[in-house]
Amino acid sequence: MTDPKKILVVGAGFAGAVMARELAEQGFWVDVIESREHIAGNCYDPIDKRYNLRVHHYGPHIFHTNSEAIYSYLSRFTQWLPYQHKVEALVEGVGYVPFPINRMTLNRLYHKKLKNRTDVEAFLDRVKEHHKKPDNARHMAENIYGKELVELFFSRYTKKMWALELEELPCSVFARLAVRYDDQSGYFDDSYQAMPAQGYVTLFERLLDHPQIAVHLSEHFDRAMENDYDHVFNSMAIDEYYQNEFGALAYRSIKYQMKSQSNHKQPVPTVNLTDTQPVTRFTDWSLYPSDQKNTSLTTLVTKEIPCSYTDNNNERYYPVKTVDGEPQRRYKQYENLAKMNKKCTFIGRCGQYRYLDMHQVVANSLRLAHNFIQLK
Ligand code: UDP
Repeated sequence: MTDPKKILVVGAGFAGAVMARELAEQGFWVDVIESREHIAGNCYDPIDKRYNLRVHHYGPHIFHTNSEAIYSYLSRFTQWLPYQHKVEALVEGVGYVPFPINRMTLNRLYHKKLKNRTDVEAFLDRVKEHHKKPDNARHMAENIYGKELVELFFSRYTKKMWALELEELPCSVFARLAVRYDDQSGYFDDSYQAMPAQGYVTLFERLLDHPQIAVHLSEHFDRAMENDYDHVFNSMAIDEYYQNEFGALAYRSIKYQMKSQSNHKQPVPTVNLTDTQPVTRFTDWSLYPSDQKNTSLTTLVTKEIPCSYTDNNNERYYPVKTVDGEPQRRYKQYENLAKMNKKCTFIGRCGQYRYLDMHQVVANSLRLAHNFIQLK
């Protein structure tokens, strides 16, 4: 490479920050623009000094992966606090029960004495449905748990989360959840589960700390900026980039309401509300592992209320894919346009319109960066 190339990265979340780092290390000059006033995207987790609590402003982000490569890559920028995420569901008339459903959940709900995996399997065998070739989230869930448990734990939660019925959603949404026949009460099964020891913001500061990276906060992307760069890696919503040429893509959003609460009690860091009230999750930040010492009896609790992104300042968090394939077809039209756009590569959840977890976003940016570098 003769002249070092100039790259624009749009967005300082995982997709953009990893991309910027990889390219800077290979000699590119990288400008990162971020429309918010902070880096770290939706992982933003500053300390609330009033209570010495680290709070994730966009809901709990628990790092988990099966990839040794991704874990070691990020370990260059952070130490870790091991953390196995635990969730319980608050069921009307019953109280808190482990979620995903396990042996203890069933015993508490049905006053049973299921002793082991064989008992649990036999119980679920009796209640489960037998949908042939399940091709939607309801049929997939009912084939494991039957109608009653699906109604109690998945149907109503999903309706408020997505504003869609379970049967309208693809199996992949339900398949994110572990299925347990024993007492395991962790939310994830991955071999690496941890939180960045000094928080995500510190991890991102280190990722972006490179002499060839310049970060510009509160700066919005404009297509005219492309003229000043050799290439753009863009994590903005792909439909927004193309000014809704084929219509707006569907995204779901969440309003995060944070409140200080005295003498608040919940059994695990995150509680799921599976009834019909609009809140889906309660998170108590004093229960997460942290480098901070919360010495107060007051804690901070975040309530999550899903909503349309247009009701939340155009904050797009979840791409919405449906069984009828409508949003997927619309996205395909944008993707085809993007393939012809040699100046710009779309990255991240909103750019690629995929329900990606953090580790998958990191893996994608690493792969795309390496492909790009090889072509230069
Ligand atoms: N889900 C549910 N009940 C729950 C938790 C999850 O029905 O108590 C369904 C719901 O459709 C949700 C999906 O499972 O969107 C994936 O859950 P996950 O916890 O992975 O969602 P995320 O953390 O990505 O919001």
